[in-house]
Amino acid sequence: MSNFYETLGVSRTATPEEIKRAYRKLARETHPDVAGEASAERFKEVSRAYEVLSDPEKRQLYDMGGEQALNGGRSGGAGANFGFSDIFETFFGGTTRSSGPVPRGRRGQDAIVTIDITLEEAVFGAKRDITVNTAVTCPACQGSCCRPGTSPETCSACQGRGSVQRVANSFLGQIMTTSPCGVCRGHGTIIQDPCPECSGDGRVRSRRTINIDIPAGVESGNRMRMPGYGEVGPGNGPAGDLHVEFKVADHPIFSRQGDDLVCSVSVPATAAALGTTITLETLDGPREITLKAGTQPGDVHSIRGLGATRIHRGTRGDVKVFVDVTVPKKLSDREKELMRELAELRGEEHPEIKPGTGIFSRLKEKMGL
Ligand SMILES: [Zn+2]
Ligand SMILES: [Zn+2]
Repeated sequence: MSNFYETLGVSRTATPEEIKRAYRKLARETHPDVAGEASAERFKEVSRAYEVLSDPEKRQLYDMGGEQALNGGRSGGAGANFGFSDIFETFFGGTTRSSGPVPRGRRGQDAIVTIDITLEEAVFGAKRDITVNTAVTCPACQGSCCRPGTSPETCSACQGRGSVQRVANSFLGQIMTTSPCGVCRGHGTIIQDPCPECSGDGRVRSRRTINIDIPAGVESGNRMRMPGYGEVGPGNGPAGDLHVEFKVADHPIFSRQGDDLVCSVSVPATAAALGTTITLETLDGPREITLKAGTQPGDVHSIRGLGATRIHRGTRGDVKVFVDVTVPKKLSDREKELMRELAELRGEEHPEIKPGTGIFSRLKEKMGL
């Protein structure tokens, strides 16, 4: 690969004026609008060399460490992605790309909807039909934007090319540059008779029903992207995406904690002392839980695999049942008598007060606090 001095055909001691003169001559010979597309690469090289050698700071870096110094030595990597188009536009006031007509269709906007779901739907997944107010392809013109029976006319200003050439004066002399056609806005065609149904937009607002597949395991705030279910773009452009956000309603029994579904049950002190069996209505149907004699407030019972679904994995956490023990508040005379008798029997008439062994310390232990 030749160095920048060789590219411009100048010596290492060339003055800024000599460099500028050399570039002017070479640019004129290699500019794609003058010499054709085939010389575009050469023109780029020449411009790259000039961009560096015409800047005293860059030239010094280059002289000391070659192109590597330009790439690494400067903040922002100015050497690596140097502004070829910038320098070009500065000199010629146009772009090198002759892009041809710009398609009329543009991508449609994304849309977002929030749907309320039950905990059961969140855990097991579900199908749901939702209706959204969105932009759909105009049924009258099928997105062509023209009154049915008519079609776009070729733009006479640019002969359908979408771009116009103009002569610009630069220090290189007169140069042809290409810019988008202002009459047809670069489309190359003009719609003389727009579709009355959509006012020439190619789309209309409409209500549309979409079938949503709620994945098992979603949580409140999770979003699902449905590509192509957003608004159709103008001029029959591709549709944007639909984002569906889920909001899980409160459940009367369970709440989600990580992968688990947690709830609490209240059992009377007598049942906790004697042991009992309770039936819990889980999301998977009724399940029996046996509380052993001497169950304490804050005890936790787990039912493996009946918790929340881990999204994308399909496995499930556990149901966790926190036991709450209720102490009777109002006692009849007979009940008081029995209680006193029990207390006497257990030597609890003068209970001992012990710190740090109650429900709070046990709860703290279980929650890992
Ligand atoms: Zn229409
Ligand atoms: Zn035009």
